[in-house]
Amino acid sequence: MTAARRPVVAGNIKMHLDRASLGALLRGVKADIALTPGYVQVVLCPAFPHLPLAQEILSGSTVALGAQNMHWDREGARTGEVAPGMLLETGCRHVILGHSERRTLFGETDEQVGKKVRAALGAGLVPILCVGETEEERRAGATEVVLSRQMVGALGGLETVASERLLVAYEPVWAIGTGRTATPETAQEAHRYLRSELGRLLGPETAGGVRLLYGGSVKPDNVDELMRETDIDGVLVGGAALQAASFLRIVNYRA
Ligand code: PEP
Repeated sequence: MTAARRPVVAGNIKMHLDRASLGALLRGVKADIALTPGYVQVVLCPAFPHLPLAQEILSGSTVALGAQNMHWDREGARTGEVAPGMLLETGCRHVILGHSERRTLFGETDEQVGKKVRAALGAGLVPILCVGETEEERRAGATEVVLSRQMVGALGGLETVASERLLVAYEPVWAIGTGRTATPETAQEAHRYLRSELGRLLGPETAGGVRLLYGGSVKPDNVDELMRETDIDGVLVGGAALQAASFLRIVNYRA
């Protein structure tokens, strides 16, 4: 982590928690953040139906709200989809795009992720663009090829992007929900590569300012060492974001 880039801790709630448990989580996080207003930017991304509840609970807090997906079109006959403007109306400032669960379970392509990133940027939402290789791809030595393909698909051909308008999360698929966190060295190596790709695609100034998050079994007992790495500017947390205590320990990491 470099002082010039404000650290970010984002929680991906996925398809978890009912209203009562989400409410308890959000109230717990909000209360703690109010006591120790910090340097770390905190984002929580609940499921679509819970966004209005989350907006209400988080009002007056510095905790930002994000969604887990969206469509690229502004409106239309897209049964089951959600438009960027609808997310803005429910208080979202961030949106997770290209999560590996969307890519593998729902067949999202690099091209679709690219359209979503453009639409989010156009609407004024901050994309949390997720990229990452599978275990097979890593074993085959194809990690950089895969990361490059995903980055080009998502960001290729974009005009300049202000660095604070974009977050990129390195989420190796083999580490998500498995308890097999990447070592800090492995994560740092991938992050350094992603920053060089950002430089190639968006120029050195943007590349130097974009926050790169690591995601994949981040827990209270491994966040500190991950956050010590130069190019790790934050974390995207799944399982450990479901309880206020573990999420807050991650927010209050000690690097
Ligand atoms: C995720 O799915 O974005 C994630 C990082 O999950 P977990 O922390 O549970 O591995």
